[in-house]
Amino acid sequence: MATAFGLAALIAGIAWRSGSLSKSGLLAAFLVGGTAMSAGSSWGRFLVLWFVSASLASRIGRRQKERATADVVAKGGQRDAAQVLANGGVYGLCAVGALVLPTQAALLATVGAGALVAAGADTLATETGTLWRGQPWSLRTGSRVPTGSSGAVSVPGTLGMLLGAWLLALGALFTGLIPADRVFHVTLAGMAGATADTLVGAWWQTRRWCPTCERETEQSVHQCGTTTQPWRGLPWLDNDRVNVLCTAVGAATVLLLGV
Ligand SMILES: [Zn+2]
Repeated sequence: MATAFGLAALIAGIAWRSGSLSKSGLLAAFLVGGTAMSAGSSWGRFLVLWFVSASLASRIGRRQKERATADVVAKGGQRDAAQVLANGGVYGLCAVGALVLPTQAALLATVGAGALVAAGADTLATETGTLWRGQPWSLRTGSRVPTGSSGAVSVPGTLGMLLGAWLLALGALFTGLIPADRVFHVTLAGMAGATADTLVGAWWQTRRWCPTCERETEQSVHQCGTTTQPWRGLPWLDNDRVNVLCTAVGAATVLLLGV
């Protein structure tokens, strides 16, 4: 276990130095990573593969994406503790479960893979959708909304989500976390989680209003410096909490499909 946490510290440290994690994100990644690596090397390998894929996807066309979404999205490419736990918390809990109940380790590995693939498919949907220069539609109103809005959909984003779920499920197979006959289950789990994220993002996720710019945003302090006001949606349901739900739906889908 000491080796696992040592390795996690090293990898999280590299991610922090390269600008993929904030300081609080570094600590959260160390805890989730150390726990996963303690549960088994395949848990650690898949987590690293997942993190590298998500970070690379964020980096491709970063400048253009930041320009396109500076007005709307709450956080930039650097992941903080809340984001790390929102994406990796359910996976970490499954790893703890596998450590405590070794007889259920195979089941928990597939459930954990479903959770992390859902988070990854959602990330890839956002990154592909944002890279595309067209404007997405709001799923709720059917009208065009600013790039980066939660609950917005586009054809490239949806393709990124479907392809991302499948590729990440294959990643879980090749890192040895799941057997070949579970790739389909985990792919579907990823798609279900990311879809739930978009639906909840469209209907219930909190939206805020900047009175100075008279614009809707997801930032608590708008880029112009004005403190924003709750506008619609559930005030407590922020992007990180929707991501927790996304991974929980991914995990639950694996269980519902019967492992
Ligand atoms: Zn403003």
